[in-house]
Amino acid sequence: MRIDLHTHSNASDGTQDPRVVIQLAADTGLHVIGLTDHDSAAGWVEASAAALEVGIRLVPGMEISTIHQHAGVHVLAYLPDPTYPPLMAELGLILDGRNGRLAAMLAQLRAAGLDIREAEVRAQVGAAPAIGRPHIADVLVAKGYVADRNQAFAEWLNWGRPGYVSRYAADTRRMVQIVTAAGGAAVIAHPWGRGSRRVLDHETLASLQSDGLVGIEVDHQDHARDDRDALRAIARDLDLVATGASDFHGAGKVDHELGCNLTDPGQFERLLAAAADNASSAGLNVTAVVGS
Ligand SMILES: [Zn+2]
Ligand SMILES: [Zn+2]
Repeated sequence: MRIDLHTHSNASDGTQDPRVVIQLAADTGLHVIGLTDHDSAAGWVEASAAALEVGIRLVPGMEISTIHQHAGVHVLAYLPDPTYPPLMAELGLILDGRNGRLAAMLAQLRAAGLDIREAEVRAQVGAAPAIGRPHIADVLVAKGYVADRNQAFAEWLNWGRPGYVSRYAADTRRMVQIVTAAGGAAVIAHPWGRGSRRVLDHETLASLQSDGLVGIEVDHQDHARDDRDALRAIARDLDLVATGASDFHGAGKVDHELGCNLTDPGQFERLLAAAADNASSAGLNVTAVVGS
């Protein structure tokens, strides 16, 4: 069974409609796909219909921006009740922060000499509920300032670069608690990618587990082989679920093709069992896996 638990559609910063992502997943021979757009469940309805149509299982999820000791940490929330008020409140703050910072980022980029207008960025957004740096990056690519999104981030948009403006992110510990209370299973995405390695050691992961953390994403393109081995050992030691996924973004991210990393079926069953446990102890609406 081929299981890919972390993908993005244009409900956040992927480049394809949720329906297209699901169709591609089926075409690629995946049996289970997790749709985990950033800070949003906006793609779930369309993806669910598509999953039923093409006959694969969909795990509704989201990837939530959090912060731990000044480092950005992405928390994958699988099967949370998206209407759980504390979760909705946090997602609302994240979206407001992201949208509010657009004008500030563009002003800084213009001050640095780039000709970029808000309307141009909005034209890149499509159905996505939030405007993010990837959309600005796409405009910089389209206008020939940079070759691709990676260069746009490295030269203009990352922390410390001219276009960077900080924004709201939830506290990691609090978000793990909220996802758990929302009947979901919290998994740290790419724990040793993108600058979060420093803060996510064995001890911190153990501590987050006491807040409800269910697993860590081990097999991810950001992790070299020895990091994967070390993370798998931590997962085994702490009895955390170890997942694997592509972090697919369509054309928005190279080298993240659907199915390039997979989750072991036994680990997947443990993840589902943890979400079911959390949902029943929360007494909330259970968010079900779509399809059979
Ligand atoms: Zn991420
Ligand atoms: Zn992602």
